[in-house]
Amino acid sequence: MNDIIHLLPDAVANQIAAGEVVQRPASAVKELLENAVDAGARHIQLIIKDAGRTLVQVVDDGKGMSFNDARLCFERHATSKISCADDLFAIRTKGFRGEALASIAAIAQVELKTRRPEDETATRVVIEGSEIKEHGITVAPVGTSIAVNNLFFNVPARRNFLKSDATEFANIEEEFNRVALVHPDIAFTLYHNGKMVLQLAEGNLKQRITGIFGTAFNDKLFPIQQETDFMKIGGFLGKPENAKKKRSEQYLFINHRFVKSSSLNFAIESAYTQLVPEGHHPPYFIYIEVNPATVDVNISPTKVEVKLQDDRLVFGFLNAAVKKAIGEFSLVPQLDFEYDKELDPDNVPSGMPIKPPTVALDPNYNPFRSVGSTHKVSFGGGGYSAPQRPSGMSQDWDSFLKDIKETEVAPVPVQPTQMQIVDEEPANDAPVAEAFMIIYKKYLWVKINGNLLLINIYRAYERIIYESYITALKETPIVVQQSLFPETVTLTASQGELLNELKEDFLRLGYDIEPMSSTNFAINGTPVNEEIGDIQELIESILDDYKSNRMNRMMETEKNIALCMARQRRSSVKPIATLQEVNSLLQQLFGCLVPTLSPSGRKIFETIGESSLDNFLK
Ligand code: ADP
Ligand code: MG
Repeated sequence: MNDIIHLLPDAVANQIAAGEVVQRPASAVKELLENAVDAGARHIQLIIKDAGRTLVQVVDDGKGMSFNDARLCFERHATSKISCADDLFAIRTKGFRGEALASIAAIAQVELKTRRPEDETATRVVIEGSEIKEHGITVAPVGTSIAVNNLFFNVPARRNFLKSDATEFANIEEEFNRVALVHPDIAFTLYHNGKMVLQLAEGNLKQRITGIFGTAFNDKLFPIQQETDFMKIGGFLGKPENAKKKRSEQYLFINHRFVKSSSLNFAIESAYTQLVPEGHHPPYFIYIEVNPATVDVNISPTKVEVKLQDDRLVFGFLNAAVKKAIGEFSLVPQLDFEYDKELDPDNVPSGMPIKPPTVALDPNYNPFRSVGSTHKVSFGGGGYSAPQRPSGMSQDWDSFLKDIKETEVAPVPVQPTQMQIVDEEPANDAPVAEAFMIIYKKYLWVKINGNLLLINIYRAYERIIYESYITALKETPIVVQQSLFPETVTLTASQGELLNELKEDFLRLGYDIEPMSSTNFAINGTPVNEEIGDIQELIESILDDYKSNRMNRMMETEKNIALCMARQRRSSVKPIATLQEVNSLLQQLFGCLVPTLSPSGRKIFETIGESSLDNFLK
């Protein structure tokens, strides 16, 4: 019998490769834009027709190609960017595989015009389905223009696979943005069907972001910047109040390459827990630089997933840097970051677990006190004045008060028996209630300067108690009242194991717990001056809640236990009965680091002005 194995012709091999490299017009856009960047262009134009179906063209003013290179660039594995396997670990260019142009030319009708600055004439190459149709001399400016016509003209199955024009063009814009966001120093222009869609002048990073996403972004961002010997982080973070339900405008770049990494995304977003409502995601534009030898970008053909050698180190460092930026931005004067030696690159033996620093809460912080200093930070040449503090409020308190000062507020039905007036001046400058009403046992209506504030009492207490527990865990433990006749609790083996792990934290929160066996524990003491109720139920609920938080949200131990305990204890607070108690609640709440959101991420209060009432009765 004859041998049956044969080598596939180049055109077929290229078409197969194209399946991986060019899935849709946006993939061709990415490859051509990256080539233009690699060629040192100062201005790059992207010209699209019919969402890329009929034309994807990139015109650059880069270094161009010689007569022979213009022909050779369409060969598979033809690249000027690496020459040996070792180069793979020091890649500083976007491309290196040498298969983009070969793949594109296998499935489209491509016209290339290119001229180097040193050449008198330009070269023109026409190639269709991997077949060279023309290779000659022409007249063209310095740089390169590659026009990809009728993508998938010879692979109708793939053409039919394309989505609507709107979707395909959105994908193109996304690729365009990803490249443009890394190169604010290069000018970009995008045309679609003969119309200019976007023009981005060269500038700094902030200008590039606002150029793409609109000038409204000017006020939505604050800078992040952190540097050590082994890595550098720069860019901008979205303010907590601009977090959205959709994960849009989240951009992470490693060594100038857009990457997606769920673990690094978690490192960023988890720094925002407590600051944004649950299920909301902050925008970010973060640029990380590490030694190229520690990043494997070769892992997938589309090169978006990334594999890092020191995953945990980068995770810890990124998480700490975001927390630090949030802390600086909020300008809380006493905000204190524990410097964690483990994060110092000189002190990190490989494989050592990283414990990112945590933000210490300042129980004395009062958002109503004006902040004296402002903070100037700059990145990418753009000076940026950080505003006062993060806030989940739709407007800040000052402007809220100003807005509604002259506003007549509709009278609210207030039960006279619950109205109380006190003359006493509060100790801090928290808002002072003139009257209040409680409905459904959980809503507190407060009249302040003739205006209204609606507070969810449980959430307010959850926040107040949570912050006091954080202080107890980090600074001053709660005093234990020793019991004369200790109660015992009986747990399952896994609950028992967890309780043993958390024993020290419980002690700081005022619970002196002694293991008698793996499942039996004696409660030798409870927090002084507190009615505990059913201790067995309390401990079981805390342990179960803790476990589910750890699994679902990967919360840090301290935050987690403080949250679980606060959720349990918030309902044990004595009901509010007097205006004095209302004012004491306001003082405690507005003395919190984050008075706007409960630690579970729910809104604590809403200010009710005339417009919201008008809206209500629309
Ligand atoms: P890679 O970018 O991985 O090297 P490509 O197939 O994208 O592979 O490009 C092949 C080669 O063609 C590049 O290495 C480069 O030398 C050349 N080239 C492609 N586009 C341009 C351009 N716009 N300007 C100058 N040279 C280019
Ligand atoms: Mg390339």
